[in-house]
Amino acid sequence: MRVFVLDKNLQPLDPTHPARARELLQKRRAKVYRRYPFTIVLQDRTTEGSVTHPHRIKIDPGSKVSGFAIVQEETGRVTNALEVSHRGQQIKDSLESRRALRRGRRNRKTRYRKPRFLNRTRKSGWLPPSLESRLANIETWVRRIRRLCPVAAISQELVRFDLQQMQSPEINGVEYQRGELFGFEVKEYLLQKWDRKCAYCGAENVPFEIEHILAKSKGGSNRVSNLCLSCHSCNQAKGNKPVEEFLKKKPDVLKRVLAQAKAPLKDATAVNATRWELYKRLQCTGLPVEVGSGGRTKFNRKTRGIEKHHWTDAACVGASTPEKLLINGVKPLVIKAKGHGKRQRCGTDRYGFVIRHAPSQKFFMGFQTGDLVKADILTGKYAGTYTGRIAIRFKPSFKLTTGGKNFDVHPKYLKTIHRADGYEYAS
Ligand SMILES: [Zn+2]
Repeated sequence: MRVFVLDKNLQPLDPTHPARARELLQKRRAKVYRRYPFTIVLQDRTTEGSVTHPHRIKIDPGSKVSGFAIVQEETGRVTNALEVSHRGQQIKDSLESRRALRRGRRNRKTRYRKPRFLNRTRKSGWLPPSLESRLANIETWVRRIRRLCPVAAISQELVRFDLQQMQSPEINGVEYQRGELFGFEVKEYLLQKWDRKCAYCGAENVPFEIEHILAKSKGGSNRVSNLCLSCHSCNQAKGNKPVEEFLKKKPDVLKRVLAQAKAPLKDATAVNATRWELYKRLQCTGLPVEVGSGGRTKFNRKTRGIEKHHWTDAACVGASTPEKLLINGVKPLVIKAKGHGKRQRCGTDRYGFVIRHAPSQKFFMGFQTGDLVKADILTGKYAGTYTGRIAIRFKPSFKLTTGGKNFDVHPKYLKTIHRADGYEYAS
């Protein structure tokens, strides 16, 4: 993990080793600019005369967590890694609860009113708020990284598999070869086609094997229409038996397997609207955006012998991945999206009755909910030093959350170390 460096005019320089950053700070040649991600600003140097190297932001967008890796292109060093957890589910839940309250109120308060629907239009490119928030998180972090690091390009995982530009592999007779890049693409295709379930017993969330419906020893081919997904025990039990014999007692399963094997996967199921929208928005940054498939990511990671994490997957996205990725000592910065508060002015109880009103101000005594603070409490039950996140109240008694517990603290003991920016950090 390296430290981001800015010059005197806040222009990004190459990230540096933490030891070098410490030295610069000790000699007072640099000051701390940001705590998360850790950034220093040089006091005596401008970008003129200093050489920067192009870096690449690599993104593996996920539904719960998105991985980011910043890779220096020439050396293949992963200089920084981030893992951003999204709050899609939280947004969905709160919108649904609001909807339920409104619906209940409408039923109670209006005896009959014509239903109004299908009379609203949405802008093109509209996404549900839960998905929009994921995109916004990724855009935010790309923008923030670009301010801290000389970024020349972006790589993004776009599709799960890429069988030569999505031509139907069943018809064109694409063949599976173990361990090749193409084999990984075929595996991802099969995972999608068989819905991540064992074709014979329906088991989920187990390691899957690629199963030849007509065994290879009986002349079965490697063509995609002869392959399905099975769990280890089904694969062992079937052996090289013909599928008709193996599924003799389950005729309905046999029928389904044979039908599904022939049916090509519809293109629509493989296209993920959110990721395409992300691709469009990343292109708006003006940087060249490279796209990769999930199959290639896995191939890159396996051939380089790298463990699976969100950030390592990100580092392996795309064809531009260097032959040797230097990932020793990299620890990802774990980031959790927290939002910026809500717009609702009326807080309700669980029956929808208004019980409180939100204050119009967000600041009190220079603090805001979500600030990361250092507390130096001199006396009392909670005497000691803590760092944590505060929730403000409009009286000098804030709630400090630190290490899983929380208690009230007077703001006179607090010093802000990182202002609320919609995210929570753990490192
Ligand atoms: Zn099975």
